[in-house]
Formats: sequence, C-alpha cells, structure tokens
Amino acid sequence: MRCPFCKANNDKVIDSRESTDAVMIRRRRECVGCGRRFTTRERIDEMDMPLRVIKRDDTRQSFERRKILSGMISACQKRAISMQDLEEITQRIEEKLLDGPEREVSSRVIGNMVMKELKKLDKVAYVRFASVYKNFESPEDFAEIAGEVIADSKEKPAKSKRTAKASADARGASGADAAESVAP
Ligand SMILES: [Zn+2]
Repeated sequence: MRCPFCKANNDKVIDSRESTDAVMIRRRRECVGCGRRFTTRERIDEMDMPLRVIKRDDTRQSFERRKILSGMISACQKRAISMQDLEEITQRIEEKLLDGPEREVSSRVIGNMVMKELKKLDKVAYVRFASVYKNFESPEDFAEIAGEVIADSKEKPAKSKRTAKASADARGASGADAAESVAP
C-alpha cells in the first residue's frame, strides 16, 4: 500500500478490523519509510466468503456439492446416464453458484438449476427428481409434470421419438420391474 505522505510502498499493518457488516476491512498501517500512520479500507473479496444454502425452513447450511450429486443419482437409477454426465452437471451448477454475486442461495434456486439440467438430459430422471424435490403428494402432481414434458416433446419434433419413449418409461416406471418379471 502506497504511503499517502511520502509515497513509499512499504508499510506494516498495525491493526485490522472488520466492519460490522463484514464487507469492508479497515487496516491501520504504519509507513516503514516515514513512520507516519494511515488507514485503508478494503473490500473483502466476496469470492473468499463461503456459499451458504437457505433451506425451506429458513435455516442456513454450508453448500455441499455432494448433495446435488446424490439427489441426481437417486433420480437417475436404472437410467442410461453416466456418472460423468452427473459430475459435469454438478460442476456447472457449483461454478455458476460460486461465480454468482450471492453468498446465500435458496435451496429452491439450486433445485430449479438441477431440474433444468436433468430436463435436457433425461425426462424420466427429471420427473423423478421433481417428484422428490417438489414433494409430490398426488397422482395429479405427476400427471401435471408428465403433461408438461409431453407438451415439450411435441414442440420439438426432432426429439419426439426419444422423449415419447422417455415419457412412456415415466408412466411405467413403477411397473417396469413387474413387466420384466412376467415377460417370457
Ligand atoms: Zn511514508
């Protein structure tokens, strides 16, 4: 830090104090050249502040990437989705959150980011994740989101074959094992 009196660039910090909102840090410095004292105020680099997640009940927790990953792994059971795909999604979401301006992010925002990614990757996994995340309680909840997925696939005819199969899988997800066991 350049001394405002003699312009020498050699000082020692004799006192540091965070502002009450912990955004600025005030440092009392002494110039080694002329011995005079001066104060600097520096913004704390927000990127050094840890990311926290605001839960539904308004409590805060440290952000943990493995929670994103494990939520997706459950949703992707028995789907043709590689671990690498899920790692990449987790990485993308984590980077977006860490690079963003907020140091506190609601779990709802993170859940929506995961849903957006899963929707592009696999419709069945998307519906499953949404059912847990949005706490589905009735068949109507599933019908609504399945309808949305089917409507989406009709808008994009290029992908209709794949998504039509995915939505069929979604409807039969719980019956799939039973169907296999009765097959000849
Ligand atoms: Zn000086």
